[in-house]
Amino acid sequence: MKVAVFSAKPYDRQYLSGANQRHAHELTFLEPRLSVESAPLAHPYQTVCAFVNDVLDAPVLRILAAGATRLIALRSAGFNHVDLAAADSLGLVVCRVPAYSPAAVAEHTVGLILSLNRRLHKAFARVRDGNFSLDGLLGFDLADRTAGVVGTGQIGQRVVRILRGFDCQVLAYDVVRNAECEAAGARYVALDELLARSDIVTLHCPLVSETHHLINGESLRRMKPGVMLINTSRGALVDTASVIRALKQGKIGYLGLDVYEEEAELFFEDHSAHVIQDDVFTRLLTFPNVLITAHQAFFTREALERIAETTLGNVTAFERGEKLVNEVRASGRRAI
Ligand code: NAD
Repeated sequence: MKVAVFSAKPYDRQYLSGANQRHAHELTFLEPRLSVESAPLAHPYQTVCAFVNDVLDAPVLRILAAGATRLIALRSAGFNHVDLAAADSLGLVVCRVPAYSPAAVAEHTVGLILSLNRRLHKAFARVRDGNFSLDGLLGFDLADRTAGVVGTGQIGQRVVRILRGFDCQVLAYDVVRNAECEAAGARYVALDELLARSDIVTLHCPLVSETHHLINGESLRRMKPGVMLINTSRGALVDTASVIRALKQGKIGYLGLDVYEEEAELFFEDHSAHVIQDDVFTRLLTFPNVLITAHQAFFTREALERIAETTLGNVTAFERGEKLVNEVRASGRRAI
């Protein structure tokens, strides 16, 4: 099939081209992000392959459906950026990559926890600068601390296991209990109790209407003073304005983000020669206890191999009229 790959980076070319030796589709790599402006580029292509910050709202989907496009092959697990109801009504099929490497995201999450706690990013810069002072680098033992894991699916359950390996007490919250997490020693509690008792709160639930701004002024008030908050899931789980207020008050003691509500305008591109116009994001960068990575938690070799294989496998299954095991439909979850 003819596939238009939007937001194509060099690593997308490398891994998709490698996997395509087994699938033999006609891949065209397009650098622009999918948007109302770039969507007409997809007109001759039956498949549009999109990533997390591509726009797949109703206006874009209408442009795609007016051309040859019949399949949206997401190369991501999250599908909160797709208007599934609009896709359904336009006859567009949407597939995703449900689990490519939960370990990659879980390990990055714990990397943020360790770096923030022991200030590894600051220590690295200090030592290179000939500054061997320890002032300001004081951390705490993770052992016996309480960590709260919100969302205990594929990624959350691995975070639970790693944190149990550090001898943390783990509290969990999810709308569905995961027996593996309980077997690993996590205790399910109500969200309010998790927030009130946790030294570290880490988010691993999807962005759906029920979880939009799950962390807001009210939920932050319930948390311990000096709490560590980690979000490697989706930016809009967190109300950034409330988080900035809590950082200024010292309520949040550490903030680790791999995702940001308005990341689409920033992440995955080099803006180092430009003035960043997003004042909320630049305010976040001024705090000494904030560590931000640019949506890289998924970014391992193993994950890219599986993303490429599953994405092209979805396209092949669609072309052959086979059952689409990775299809997502509007009836599943409410997309926002
Ligand atoms: P998953 O579907 O396996 O697990 C999600 C869990 O969240 C499920 O157990 C589900 O029951 C739970 N959940 C749903 N609604 C909830 C609610 N209202 N409150 C609490 N829990 C709720 O998904 P996963 O593979 O573990 O991925 C989790 C999220 O991580 C994805 O939705 C995606 O947004 C994000 N993600 C980020 C990256 C990255 O690079 N930063 C990479 C992959 C995935």
